[in-house]
Amino acid sequence: MPITTLILDLDETVYPSSTGLWDLIGERIFAFIHQRLELPAEAIHALQYQYFNSYGTTLRGLELNNGIDARDYLDYVHDVPIENILAPDQELHDVLSGYPQRKVIFTNSDKNHTQRVLERIGIADLFDGVVDVQDIRPHCKPQPEAFQVALNLFGGLDAADCLFIDDSLRNIQTAAEMGMSVVHINEKKQPSLLYPTVRYLKELPQVFSKDGEIQISSALADL
Ligand SMILES: [Mg+2]
Repeated sequence: MPITTLILDLDETVYPSSTGLWDLIGERIFAFIHQRLELPAEAIHALQYQYFNSYGTTLRGLELNNGIDARDYLDYVHDVPIENILAPDQELHDVLSGYPQRKVIFTNSDKNHTQRVLERIGIADLFDGVVDVQDIRPHCKPQPEAFQVALNLFGGLDAADCLFIDDSLRNIQTAAEMGMSVVHINEKKQPSLLYPTVRYLKELPQVFSKDGEIQISSALADL
């Protein structure tokens, strides 16, 4: 069955991890918890680890257990100088625009941040839908319920018609279990063996042809 839709994660998928943008957001998350909950550093790290594993994101844990307002949190943690960190990427635009499939974003961040990132890179015109962490409440990636809500919101897509692209292995695993084709973005190129892997989104043609065929895993090909 040919792929009709590319579903892309945002952070550390449409831009490389090595830009450091996500690290800056991580510092903002830490500062937010420090200010609001008045916890010492070790306790914040432990809390984030627990929330990430139990709820999928720090935000969901803070909402459920600490009465944190999602809008307040999202605006604070994404208040980072994207323009100083990311640059327009014409090569990425050329690669993505070569694919005839519909392209959408599915992210555990929010729409404001998504729009800023896409516009800064110069690829916003290629996407016709965004499902963000507010849309999939109370779930988030990697929970299957979040994926199902996203498929519904994108117009009732069948998992089998979608290619899901994400830097998070646990998100990739859920998508694959639901029947999607997957590509793992992994800048360090640690071979997962299970899934087609590329270092950067612009390398997508190495594992996915324009007519919608998944190629051999590049991780396997390297062995
Ligand atoms: Mg990501």
